[in-house]
Amino acid sequence: MQKGQIGVTTENIFPVIKKFLYSDNEIFLRELVANAVDATQKLKTLASFGEYKGELGDMKVEVKVDKDAGTLTVTDHGIGMTADDVNKYINQIAFSGAEEFVNKYKDNANNIIGHFGLGFYSAFMVSSKVEIRSLSYKDGAEAVRWECDGSPEYTMEPCDKTTRGTEITLWIDDDNKEYLEQARVDLLLKKYCRFLPVPVVSGKEQEWKDGKYVDTDRDKVINSTEPAWTKKPAELTDEDYRNFYHELYPGQEDPLFWIHLNVDYPFTLTGILYFPKIKSNLDIRKDRIQLYCNQVFVTDSVEGVVPEFMMLLQGVIDSPDIPLNVSRSYLQSDRAVKKISGYITKKVASRLEELFKADRADFEKKWDDIKIFIEYGMLTDEKFCDAAMKFALLRDTEGKYFTLEEYRTLVEPTQTDKDGNVVYIYATDPVEQYSYIEDATAKGYNVLLMDGQLDGHFISMLENKLEKTVFVRVDSDVADNLVAKTDRKDSGLNADQISMMTTVFRSQLPKLEKSEFMVSFESLDPAAAPVMITQNEYMRRMKDMAATQAGMSFYAELPDSYNLIVNTAQKNVADVMAEAEKALEEKIAPLRASVETDNSQLSALRAEYKDGKPSDEQAAREKELMDAVETARKEQEKLVSDYAAHQPVVRQMIDLALLSNGLLQGRELKEFIKRSVEMLGK
Ligand code: ADP
Repeated sequence: MQKGQIGVTTENIFPVIKKFLYSDNEIFLRELVANAVDATQKLKTLASFGEYKGELGDMKVEVKVDKDAGTLTVTDHGIGMTADDVNKYINQIAFSGAEEFVNKYKDNANNIIGHFGLGFYSAFMVSSKVEIRSLSYKDGAEAVRWECDGSPEYTMEPCDKTTRGTEITLWIDDDNKEYLEQARVDLLLKKYCRFLPVPVVSGKEQEWKDGKYVDTDRDKVINSTEPAWTKKPAELTDEDYRNFYHELYPGQEDPLFWIHLNVDYPFTLTGILYFPKIKSNLDIRKDRIQLYCNQVFVTDSVEGVVPEFMMLLQGVIDSPDIPLNVSRSYLQSDRAVKKISGYITKKVASRLEELFKADRADFEKKWDDIKIFIEYGMLTDEKFCDAAMKFALLRDTEGKYFTLEEYRTLVEPTQTDKDGNVVYIYATDPVEQYSYIEDATAKGYNVLLMDGQLDGHFISMLENKLEKTVFVRVDSDVADNLVAKTDRKDSGLNADQISMMTTVFRSQLPKLEKSEFMVSFESLDPAAAPVMITQNEYMRRMKDMAATQAGMSFYAELPDSYNLIVNTAQKNVADVMAEAEKALEEKIAPLRASVETDNSQLSALRAEYKDGKPSDEQAAREKELMDAVETARKEQEKLVSDYAAHQPVVRQMIDLALLSNGLLQGRELKEFIKRSVEMLGK
């Protein structure tokens, strides 16, 4: 019998394994089964090259729990190991700089295990003793038994194993009894081994008999050995792709489409990425892309390996070149991984372009579903953005789709403003903004529908990317002014009229919570509405962004600011003004005159100041005059307000505008209806 010390250059690796790696200790099973599968594949390869001439026989890998004995055994029929092999591969562990490394990465078992090829040794995370019994495929090989109880000492001796391959038995320690439960082991195998290329058997299929489940004599195979991504695209039908998707993510709707990845230079990578039907939530991150290494499941935390925006996709990526056993921060800085990420981006973009070119109608049909993905990609990935400019679509309120270039061609002739900017008009809610859309369309403008979650950001991005382009929401101004062809039209009112009419309308505005109105006058189309409400594009965008972004609470706190635009060319408005002037002129004229006198006295007084400073007497006189102006102004305002309060048509015009913006609610709405009925009766 050979006895010896496991060759580690530093003190002792077992305490390290035991002490630090408990959190991820379930991976021991993945490591052992992966080794067994490796050994099996190696023998198949040797056989295919004629270097192994014996019978291959049944090559399944078997995982067996024996609760009574307290053991878990992994058996394969692969190449096996000679005593020399065990010495070389198991007893000598290249473990230089271990201490330093362990201290750095002590929280992550994956790091240590993968970094040093300690796959097999992870068995000690859950065992008090491990035994290897192995018979090599080599002619005349002698079977070997190796045993170790977790101290650096092992024993090795010949044994009576007669079947080719390796059998590894773990005496599960007291802290890890869970790994003696068939259900728990099956779950782990399902997680890590469901697509391994060699059948993995875990116990027997069961059937219902005499009131309970009993084992049949059929092996329970837990994996599919030829998952779709390992096949050539030409061998697969659409049905196959869909079936594989449902195998990965049971209970989901069919995917929209998929991309089969297949590279062998400068790195090896296969996989299938699916575009799921995304409802509206950006956070559907539980059914994520899965990362495999030679069909062994590694993780579904693919941050860093695939570009951020592709996290919305689903499917499988398999690459032996990704250093899978290291931490994510390491992954992200890895050059191979960066290349892979770049490759996937390129591949996805070119596949989308292909789909767009091959069947535009179908692409349009799917657009609403994939739009969020493409916009997210364009917003976060420069390269993807450049590629996507060719197939990203804009949809108008009538449901027509345009590429960016097509849309430019469409609107440039009609929607270029006086400064040479092409104005893209958009709606975010076709119901709420219905009347604005109608007005804009009536003027021959096209209105885009931008109701997606990311559209706000997408608009800003396009404004930056496309030259001389501005986006304005359809309700940000009256239709006449959406595309400013000339300077704003004059209202045709003089200063006194403006002052009076401002009071007429302002005094009749209902108090709406967190809303602020600016009253202004414009001479618009006589057939247009008498009063219109618009919302300043810039302020609205700021507030929209504030709603979703931290650090912008300043804007979020501000009230919504609206413009109340009174159309002085409209007949009812003109009537109101004419009547108000007639009714009020007599009373207002003297007030206006006294304000004028007081104001001119004020100017004269201020001109008399010495060195810009009033004497006490001058200051007192100044205050007197200012008070008088203020009183007269207030009196004027009161006169106008009182008058306006008896003009239901004013309130009616305002309410109509509020109503068409969905701003008239509750008591105000009730009053409006009552007033309308009264007016009908007249
Ligand atoms: P790695 O698999 O990363 O090389 P391991 O510690 O898991 O590291 O295994 C070390 C070596 O031991 C393997 O490379 C292989 O040569 C050998 N080995 C492990 N398990 C088996 C097995 N079931 N059959 C044959 N050889 C094995």
